[in-house]
Amino acid sequence: MTVFDYDLFVIGGGSGGVRAARVAGTLGKRVAIAEEYRLGGTCVIRGCVPKKLFVYASQFSEHFEDSAGFGWQVEGASFDWKKLVAAKDKEVTRLEGLYRRGLENAGVEILESRAEFLDSHTIRLVKTGHTVTAERIVVATGGSANPHAALPGHELCITSNEAFDLPELPRSILIAGGGYIAVEFANIFHGLGVDTTLIYRGKEILSRFDLDVRQGLHRAMEEKGIRIVCTDVIEEVTKAPAGGLIARTLDGQTLAVDTVMLALGRDPDTKGLGLEAAGVETDAKGAIVVDDYSRSSVAHIYALGDVTDRVQLTPVAIHEAMCFIETEFKSNPTKPDYDLIATAVFSQPEIGTIGLSEEEACKRYPEIEVYRAEFRPMKATLSGRSEKMIMKLVVDAATRKVLGAHILGHDAGEMVQLLAISLKAGCTKDDFDRTMAVHPTASEELVTMYQPSYRVSNGERV
Ligand code: NDP
Repeated sequence: MTVFDYDLFVIGGGSGGVRAARVAGTLGKRVAIAEEYRLGGTCVIRGCVPKKLFVYASQFSEHFEDSAGFGWQVEGASFDWKKLVAAKDKEVTRLEGLYRRGLENAGVEILESRAEFLDSHTIRLVKTGHTVTAERIVVATGGSANPHAALPGHELCITSNEAFDLPELPRSILIAGGGYIAVEFANIFHGLGVDTTLIYRGKEILSRFDLDVRQGLHRAMEEKGIRIVCTDVIEEVTKAPAGGLIARTLDGQTLAVDTVMLALGRDPDTKGLGLEAAGVETDAKGAIVVDDYSRSSVAHIYALGDVTDRVQLTPVAIHEAMCFIETEFKSNPTKPDYDLIATAVFSQPEIGTIGLSEEEACKRYPEIEVYRAEFRPMKATLSGRSEKMIMKLVVDAATRKVLGAHILGHDAGEMVQLLAISLKAGCTKDDFDRTMAVHPTASEELVTMYQPSYRVSNGERV
């Protein structure tokens, strides 16, 4: 019988990889994890966590303004970008330490090196040149920002990677893209006082969300002073003679800005991993092709998280890791469940969403009911801010099942996490109606919209 160095070798120390390695370690398996950069992966090091800290930082400008309506006078408020970056670095380093300790406590060997396949059981550690063997291997190398190499001048632009550590806060920024990252960073930079423009190729930002909340967010961002240019793309970026950059667009606009940021999606990180040597198949985008259990074309090699280009979200990668553990180490074959994944866009106002958008629901169900409320949140009455909240439930008229819930406004992310439990449990609109409201809150609207705002029958609004 072949004797391997490890029962499990994990390539990539992000959310999915660390979870798989740590839990396998606690089960008494001999586990190693290789990471070439920092433990914690995109989410902890240059994604969700630092982003949310920056969102908080950027909200203070509005908080200071709003406070006047409540009797406060805040004078002399100023912002120090370098202080924020240093504070963020400290917190990220603390979290990285927690990841490291979690692995160590589970008996996992941490290898600070890039790892590449030599064959399907053998891995070379690039830093030392050593080779190791493993019975099972998990590839969880994640993804990286699409550099848009076809764009002349792309090398002058930044991506979210650099945005977290810019030496200076730019005075102006042009952000390309209409997805999560573009929208979140447009609001962050605007809140920090940067003159911000977003340019998106489609008709409306956030293409895969409910149109109502997309339009509501668009309006709210423009009212704040963020410029949004739709149906246009950057064609070329050049250096301006006096410093800064010039972006030329397809529609013939010329935009002079300090910084251009590209947020055009993320590509799976599989280049140079030696996947061919291992016999692991990838698709046209470079993503590892997996079956319903996250198993690659080689039976003992699994792939988790963004490297598979399924749903690029941290909790999904963690869930896939737990399913892998069940399948491989607990004799309980478990497929990841992708139904009804709640998600939030940390824009300002925030979006929280789960299930089918109105547009999708109309395509799948002959008749739906839409319960919709748009209102000024209580805080805005005294602050004087003109913001609006949108809450929307999409319901199958035949079964009364709630198919989707979409919220735009403060704490939408927090609300949708809890709504996700009801939708996952298959709750009907009647269950919502039977639920007592919590007063005064914004979320009470979700249980007090008794009459449908409108119905959509066979695609026609009635
Ligand atoms: P998204 O897929 O959300 O958005 C990419 C955007 O770039 C889309 O608007 C897309 O347009 C546009 N685009 C793609 N290619 C081009 C091109 N060649 N020219 C012009 N526009 C282009 O990716 P992000 O980079 O924003 O984020 C990556 C992933 O990270 C997300 O999918 C998400 O899963 C995850 N993420 C999650 C967050 C959260 O949970 N809050 C926060 C940040 C990231 P179109 O829509 O027309 O295709």
